[in-house]
Amino acid sequence: MSDPSCIFCRIVAGEIPATVIARTEQALAFRDLHPQAPSHLLVIPTRHVDSLATAEDAVELGAVLSLAAEVAKSEGLADGGYRVVTNIGADGGQTVQHLHFHVLGGRQMHWPPG
Ligand code: 5GP
Ligand code: ZN
Repeated sequence: MSDPSCIFCRIVAGEIPATVIARTEQALAFRDLHPQAPSHLLVIPTRHVDSLATAEDAVELGAVLSLAAEVAKSEGLADGGYRVVTNIGADGGQTVQHLHFHVLGGRQMHWPPG
């Protein structure tokens, strides 16, 4: 399923340019347009899913998270550590309504997050 009004579906379709780092049948990893850390990637399902709250396919979720760990490694983040986070809904701070995991690294992360 693809939503033509969804910017991340359009990135999957190649209609909006993005710096793609890795791609599998079920998942795509690309650089965030406004990086919040020296390495800031977004990893998404290639199929449209609104958010983690409505995700139903555990195999697809596994594929997306596996790719997140893989690209973190290829970015050189695995040894020092990194953060994977997904925002859900208004209070979660989600601004793009297509499930995405942020992979952030290359600097010390802080807790609690803002
Ligand atoms: P959210 O706020 O929904 O958790 O994260 C959305 C992320 O998508 C933000 O970090 C934002 O910078 C990024 N973003 C929004 N539009 C685009 C785009 O067109 N291309 C890319 N590469 N990133 C985008
Ligand atoms: Zn979408």
